[in-house]
Amino acid sequence: MTFDTLGLSEPLLRAVSEKGYDTPSPIQAKAIPAVLEGHDLMASAQTGTGKTAGFTLPLLHLLADKPAANSNRTLALIVTPTRELAAQIHESVLDYGKHLNLRSTVVFGGVKINPQMMKLRRGVEILVATPGRLLDLHKQNAISFNDVEVLVLDEADRMLDMGFIHDIKRIISLMPKKRQNLLFSATFSNDIRHLARGLLNNPVEIDVAPQNTTATKVEQKIHPVDKGRKAALLSHLIRSEGWHQALVFSRTKHGANKLVKLLERDNIHAAAIHGNKSQAQRTKALAEFKKGKVQILVATDIAARGIDIDQLPQVVNFDLPNVPEDYVHRIGRTARAGSSGNAVSLVSADEIKQLSDIERLIKSKIAREEVDGFEPEHALPESRSGHRPTRSAQPRRSSPSNRNNGQGRNQRSSESRSAGKNGQGRNQRSSESRPAGNGEQRRRSSQQRTSSGNGNGNGNGNGNGNSNARSASSNNQRSNNNGNSHPRSQQVTSGNLIEPDRVIQSGNR
Ligand code: AMP
Repeated sequence: MTFDTLGLSEPLLRAVSEKGYDTPSPIQAKAIPAVLEGHDLMASAQTGTGKTAGFTLPLLHLLADKPAANSNRTLALIVTPTRELAAQIHESVLDYGKHLNLRSTVVFGGVKINPQMMKLRRGVEILVATPGRLLDLHKQNAISFNDVEVLVLDEADRMLDMGFIHDIKRIISLMPKKRQNLLFSATFSNDIRHLARGLLNNPVEIDVAPQNTTATKVEQKIHPVDKGRKAALLSHLIRSEGWHQALVFSRTKHGANKLVKLLERDNIHAAAIHGNKSQAQRTKALAEFKKGKVQILVATDIAARGIDIDQLPQVVNFDLPNVPEDYVHRIGRTARAGSSGNAVSLVSADEIKQLSDIERLIKSKIAREEVDGFEPEHALPESRSGHRPTRSAQPRRSSPSNRNNGQGRNQRSSESRSAGKNGQGRNQRSSESRPAGNGEQRRRSSQQRTSSGNGNGNGNGNGNGNSNARSASSNNQRSNNNGNSHPRSQQVTSGNLIEPDRVIQSGNR
């Protein structure tokens, strides 16, 4: 299938082709025609499936012919939980809409509200927002929802987990009754279903893959290790494996800070990104990581949400998440958009419960591999997931031969696209800087869903646009991302290779 068959206009097809996409991902193939036909949508999809283009492209198509939004109004509202996601979605709006004459902006907390109010003054056709700041702006009459024709709730499960349910309900209550609603969620708990029932009108349901499977082509393995030796093992792996760009997950902010200090002590350039860091610090850390100046980015789950780095080769779980679904999200940071990636977890004996939960969730055992010199004194017990290892783990001989102290990272070329997504390297555009999310605890449950449904069409308006100049923040150019190979000192033979299709697979494109 190609994009031409989906009914998108020529300027959008051109933008898609300039992005280098040949084939719609499964969610795009299903969502785009449904949205173009005016249906409500209930889609199960997480970051990495191409869902952003799945709703942004048809949204842009529908809005292109509409009269411009009036001052302090918007025609389409995209609500998403974290600032990074908001920034990233807005980046996609700009990318895909670059040949259209639509205005858009993004608003989120943690930055001054005044510039955002100024931007809204003339009206925008598309507004991307996090819930709290959106309501603040509404309270101050900077934005009215009266003209909203399409509402997108992105990562609805995460919004609920982060305690935004009241904000969401309030936002919905302020909308006009007649509108198109698109709901995206990685999981469909009862709460989400309840929200969906009150929101969606006969929705088309889309489920691109079974729940909670792990990302495409992510090679996963566990290194059992004593808790106190994790930092030393990480340091060792970074050097021996030549990890030039690794995203390391820490369960806590404090743990992230401490780990950065330990790595820096070993002359490994690392930075932390989490909720206690200022916006400027987060943006800087992320941009430097993308450029290859920072070799190791240590992140908490929420802060890492929305980090989109094409071809990030290595993810490390310094500790396992308490919420097993977060494991899936974490390792989904690598092997994005069809590339392959590696996810390594350093697991100590006290994490057996988390490990069992994860293995139960992903329905397989992750191969274990002890590293010479780091064999645990406290053996990691067998997990209680009831699943067998997909391949047998073999003890691993550490290979001092390939210690490169991370110089490998200099091979990387620029990361302009990704950097742009986070507010760096795109000074051309105004104030939408890219900070991180907030909220830390979450809970999720999984449910099945099927596809079917039909909808309540709405039509394309025909535009005799008003006098608002559609200039503002719409257009911009970014170059696309580099590829980077990741030197590995040895071929991993014992990792799991799981290939479900939660994430765009190369075969689809
Ligand atoms: P998303 O799930 O929207 O965060 O998208 C994940 C990644 O896939 C992003 O880097 C997109 O640029 C990329 N992507 C989206 N759609 C396609 C496509 N049809 N072909 C190739 N890459 C895509």
